[in-house]
Amino acid sequence: MCPVGHVSHLETLTPHGWGQIVASEKRGLLEWNDSTVDVMYSCADCGVCQSHCVTDQPLPDAIAAVRANLVQEGLAPSMVETLKKRLAKWGNPYEEKVPEPPEGNGEYALFVGDASVHLWDKTVPALLKVLKKIGIEPALIGKGCNSGYLPSSLGLHDMAKGFSQQILTELKETGATKLLVMSPGDYYTIHTLYPERLGVSLPEDVELIDVMSLLDEKHTSGELSFNRIEMGLPYAYVDPTHAVRTLDRLEAPRRLLNAVLPTPVIELFWRKERAHPAGDGVLQFVQPELSLLLTQARNEDATQAGAQGMITEDSATLYQLNQLSPSGLPVKGMYELLADRVA
Ligand code: SF4
Repeated sequence: MCPVGHVSHLETLTPHGWGQIVASEKRGLLEWNDSTVDVMYSCADCGVCQSHCVTDQPLPDAIAAVRANLVQEGLAPSMVETLKKRLAKWGNPYEEKVPEPPEGNGEYALFVGDASVHLWDKTVPALLKVLKKIGIEPALIGKGCNSGYLPSSLGLHDMAKGFSQQILTELKETGATKLLVMSPGDYYTIHTLYPERLGVSLPEDVELIDVMSLLDEKHTSGELSFNRIEMGLPYAYVDPTHAVRTLDRLEAPRRLLNAVLPTPVIELFWRKERAHPAGDGVLQFVQPELSLLLTQARNEDATQAGAQGMITEDSATLYQLNQLSPSGLPVKGMYELLADRVA
């Protein structure tokens, strides 16, 4: 089930392979060198192994911890140091632009992040239009800033903690008690990664809300409605990267898409509880070839399912899928689609 094992066809790049390498190094049967370190930086930190594990073993956390040791010992790949400098200076790995200060205040805040500013800037305006229909005009925090997931995944533990604390400081400044997030990746990072990897928690009086689930609830209750598209291409829904880490919200985007699209949304083979990631995440920087193979695999899955286009909501996943253009299927942002059709 490991997506990297699937696209690489290498047994080394599977949970079993990573586990054996870590155990073998501890037993003195192999050493850290360019080859073994390269293998340790080939895991996508996608969570699929843990979601399939009957005893919920946190292998991705263990791999991140091994990477943190490699960083401390000066053995990490040179790209990690490059990214560390970029993140320290710009707060994101994509553009030489510092994050913007938080904007607004009130009951709700929306975590924007870096991908929705630097990779796919249509997501936030579209979502704000839909939220306004249900009377929510959130403050914006983390505009252009990484959530802390990337440094954590790279083994830059202290830096990841610094990012998480910055986000919580901005949240406090807005006075919000409801924090909205737009993607499974951001929900997982703030809900699970912050406490489990970084020892950082949201204040007790703050509720973390997946915005897709909120829109689904409002649509089901009749407070939000959409005009259905009458004719169009058959689209596949691509579960965003990290969807397997937020199983409670798997149906929400599907219900909303089926309220808007002219025909039922097409499902990939690697969907829902077994959804594989696209190439966003740590691999786009440290193993770009593997990252591209993951993204191509999502496109092939959608093509084989008979889709003529792909829809997803995560800005980072959208950017990766769109990178395959013009040979890949056309890609549509789900929040943009909802904003176009909101009644
Ligand atoms: S986190 Fe993803 S890439 Fe890494 S071992 Fe688990 S399933 Fe494979």
